[in-house]
Amino acid sequence: MDYNKNAGIDLHIHSNASDGTFSPAEILDLAQELDLGAIAITDHDTVNGSKEALSIGIPSSLKFLTGVEISASPPPPFSYSASLHILGYSIKIDNPALNKTLAILQEARKNRNPGIVARLNSMGVALSMDELLNEVGDGQLGRPHIARLMVKKGYVESIKEAFDKYLGKGKPAYLDKYRIDCSTAIEIILGAGGIPVIAHPYLLNPGNVADLEDFIIVLKKMGLKGIEVYYPEHSPHIISLFEDMANRHELLMTGGTDFHGSLKPKLKMGSGTGNFFVPYILYERLISSA
Ligand code: AMP
Ligand code: ZN
Ligand code: FE
Ligand code: FE
Repeated sequence: MDYNKNAGIDLHIHSNASDGTFSPAEILDLAQELDLGAIAITDHDTVNGSKEALSIGIPSSLKFLTGVEISASPPPPFSYSASLHILGYSIKIDNPALNKTLAILQEARKNRNPGIVARLNSMGVALSMDELLNEVGDGQLGRPHIARLMVKKGYVESIKEAFDKYLGKGKPAYLDKYRIDCSTAIEIILGAGGIPVIAHPYLLNPGNVADLEDFIIVLKKMGLKGIEVYYPEHSPHIISLFEDMANRHELLMTGGTDFHGSLKPKLKMGSGTGNFFVPYILYERLISSA
């Protein structure tokens, strides 16, 4: 079967190797069902989702990019209320330096969770690490899992409410975690033969996207190759601002939904909240740059 060049693509998908609820096999099945042309599995700080998809075998109708989404910190004086995520595409998943750094980040995630649970407990939210670990299976425990358990146990109505009241950055149960700086994140992605792209930049500074340009220039000097221009939370106006920025600085454009299965119930793979669409040509430009 030939692949579908008229199809959309989705280059930002989480599997149950991090905080998505679909396994890599289910993601491959769904992408085929939706007739997507290309996808990437971009789990937080792990390549296990991509690895599993490759070992299952990629259907001939679908193009697949290995991926990762690394939580990083910006260099001073840049500082943002949301966390900085760097996507890495087409990485060699067995690269030793990449895997060594990801192992450190995974450890930092593990060490953070008991502290969040302790804060919740002290606020009268009764849940334990054992209950949480039951929620996750083999994946990597993160705040969305904690939020889901809070919904299940009736402490909040929705995952969003759990973040807004307890778990979001700056909220009472929030704990920061160790992050690598973004120059290191970019370096290890490049070192693993990959393409570093800044994820959902609008979320960093929703008030003033134009102010992000200086930061993007700094990231480009570090080796950044692209901007995630197309994202469900980017309005048409915001998209055009990022398209212009990408063109001005000769950066690639990528796009994806940030699909998390039932942990972001409003977001569908490929189509986001409805009419989101990322054209196949962006996948072709991305791989031809590698
Ligand atoms: P963690 O990896 O534990 O830091 O959690 C990051 C995940 O939490 C990402 O998948 C985000 O999409 C999700 N997240 C962060 N802030 C919010 C929020 N305000 N509402 C819902 N999900 C959020
Ligand atoms: Zn996530
Ligand atoms: Fe992200
Ligand atoms: Fe993501």
